[in-house]
Amino acid sequence: MKLYDMLIVGGGPAGFTAALYAARAGLSVLVLERLSPGGQMALTERIDNYPGFPEGIDGWTLAEKMRAQAEGFGAETLLAEVLALDLRAEPKTAETSEGTFFGKTVVYAAGAEPRRLDLPMEQALVGRGVSYCASCDGAFYKGKTVAVVGGGDSAAAEVLHLLPVAKKVILIHRRDTLRAGKIYHQALLQAENLEMMWNSTVTELLYDDRLTGLRLRNTLTGEEREIFCDGVFISVGRKPATALVRGQLALDKSGYIPAGETTGTEIPGVYAAGDVRGKPLRQVVTAVADGALAVQAALDYLSGIKKSDSAPG
Ligand code: NAP
Repeated sequence: MKLYDMLIVGGGPAGFTAALYAARAGLSVLVLERLSPGGQMALTERIDNYPGFPEGIDGWTLAEKMRAQAEGFGAETLLAEVLALDLRAEPKTAETSEGTFFGKTVVYAAGAEPRRLDLPMEQALVGRGVSYCASCDGAFYKGKTVAVVGGGDSAAAEVLHLLPVAKKVILIHRRDTLRAGKIYHQALLQAENLEMMWNSTVTELLYDDRLTGLRLRNTLTGEEREIFCDGVFISVGRKPATALVRGQLALDKSGYIPAGETTGTEIPGVYAAGDVRGKPLRQVVTAVADGALAVQAALDYLSGIKKSDSAPG
């Protein structure tokens, strides 16, 4: 059995920053990542609010740089899906698709996943017209008509990605003003192949063997209408990936882990970093800060273990 000083669940910016700081401090550290490094960040085409990259950088490249930097100091990465965690066990245990791993500490940095509309057939139509990621699937809609649902920064970024590819983009938002920051407004206003559908929600996905359109309801008048589209990109926010710790760690009413700035949780040696933690701003820059703080707290915890291990009696 190999016992690591630190297991890190999630290879996004929080996870790889924790890995960098831990490995650099001489800890043995294993990052468990399900898909590919970077988490949500890797799906972001252009990040221009992460300091140090004045020309902007794509999320995948930034993720690879973070992984390489952590591994350069000796952190290990394993592509494996974590199936179960026992955070109260000694040592703490992660059962994964690639075997069971043990850690003296755990940094839980599993990030967030797209929120769904929870419409009938929504999951069944993923890959057949329903998508949550324009930079992943946008290229399939060259010359076609696509809808984007949502009004936040993510929805605006999805629209900007799709505008040069699709014949027409329809942005469907449940209110009459965007939540997205002002920086997006001008670019959207200038687009010739963008149609805005305000005060509208999607009530039904229309399909034969794949998506053919949407049924919409006007939130002010209650009037319903059907629109044709080849694809819909659902971008209505994220929800924290906290299923693995439910029942072990307290969660707030939105499902986030209410850890403070130290990232420490109610279980000694367990830290919540990045988008899974309750906090006012979820960005790459706050995720990396969490990763560093988690290691600072873990080092204190581990030095406590060492002291009590060597204490007489
Ligand atoms: P968000 O800011 O929470 O926006 C979610 C949008 O979806 C809102 O417009 C919301 O409408 C709408 N919505 C939520 N549930 C809905 C439902 N059931 N049906 C229809 N519409 C629904 O989420 P986000 O855009 O994913 O952004 C998450 C965070 O990442 C934010 O802090 C954001 O600033 C950040 N981010 C930043 C950038 C950047 O360029 N800097 C890019 C992407 C994300 P209402 O407005 O009516 O609530």
